[in-house]
Amino acid sequence: MLDLTKGPNAAMMGLAGRTLQAVRGAPLTIFMYHAVIEEPLVLPDYCFISADDFAAQMDWLANRRIRVLPLLDAVAAIEAGQLKSPTVVITFDDGYLNNIEVALPILQRHGFPATIFLTTGLTGTEQALWPSRLNLALQATSRTSVEWRGMTVALTNEGARRAALARLQEAVKEKAGGAPGDAVAEIEAALEVPVDPPVARTSPFAMMNADDIAAALTSGLINFGAHTLTHPLLSKLDDNRLADEIIGSIDAVEKLTGQPCRSFAFPNGRTIDYDARALDHLAQRGIEATVTTVSAPNRKDTDRLQLHRHGVGPEMSLLRYAATVYGLPLDAAVGAVRRLRG
Ligand SMILES: [Zn+2]
Repeated sequence: MLDLTKGPNAAMMGLAGRTLQAVRGAPLTIFMYHAVIEEPLVLPDYCFISADDFAAQMDWLANRRIRVLPLLDAVAAIEAGQLKSPTVVITFDDGYLNNIEVALPILQRHGFPATIFLTTGLTGTEQALWPSRLNLALQATSRTSVEWRGMTVALTNEGARRAALARLQEAVKEKAGGAPGDAVAEIEAALEVPVDPPVARTSPFAMMNADDIAAALTSGLINFGAHTLTHPLLSKLDDNRLADEIIGSIDAVEKLTGQPCRSFAFPNGRTIDYDARALDHLAQRGIEATVTTVSAPNRKDTDRLQLHRHGVGPEMSLLRYAATVYGLPLDAAVGAVRRLRG
């Protein structure tokens, strides 16, 4: 396969990117990570990428001399029309302990900054985020199928369990997006496994605590934003809970860090997952940048309270990662390089 990430191909992709840039301005790419892990999960999950893949991506950014900025600096620069070359912001959602134990040392090799968005209801607890609980429950159960709210999901082998994890994650969002933890408790009970079991700090699903946050702040590379208390889909909440989830998590971040909380990430982050009520709360509370999961580059006119992000999962090749940084859809990038080569 044509490797655009190395040697002359990288230079040509850079040239293709610069050609587009001359027309549209340099793109700001905000990457969304969740967990970075040393050992593979028993049941793989799109939110968990290997330390090797993460390190390769950071090496690529460093080798190509791509500028990596803190979120708010990048937003200020793009609004001021000061982005002259493709620029990257690194973010992590949810607040996994492995962000500090595994990802931060890799960031430190390059001096790359990052923002971590905390689901503050879980910070400093032994509880796992609801998708992690589903993962643990599907690993632990000895049942060969599960029924939940009219669905029957087969669990007969590892392949079936992998498919069940993805299907149940989507079903929880769709049927119980406002209270996902309660929905997962029903599934845990149906699977005949402990409900909301504690996780050890050695677990890939463990969340960080106040000491971990303090250590991250000492590095000078990490800042923290809010990501709600319990990770509901905000558009499914009534006004009171909506306010609690947003304001409560911003207050908690400020308490945990001793610093103003200036950024926020919407859970699930599609445009249907939040609404004008949420945007009003965030603006009134003085939040300066908010990130979605809409996959697109950011340009000068992108709303800083609805910034676009590209999720990075275990399936993302370095080629696609590189094309994303240059603001090139992968297929267009390959075509552009072929044309440049004649
Ligand atoms: Zn999240």
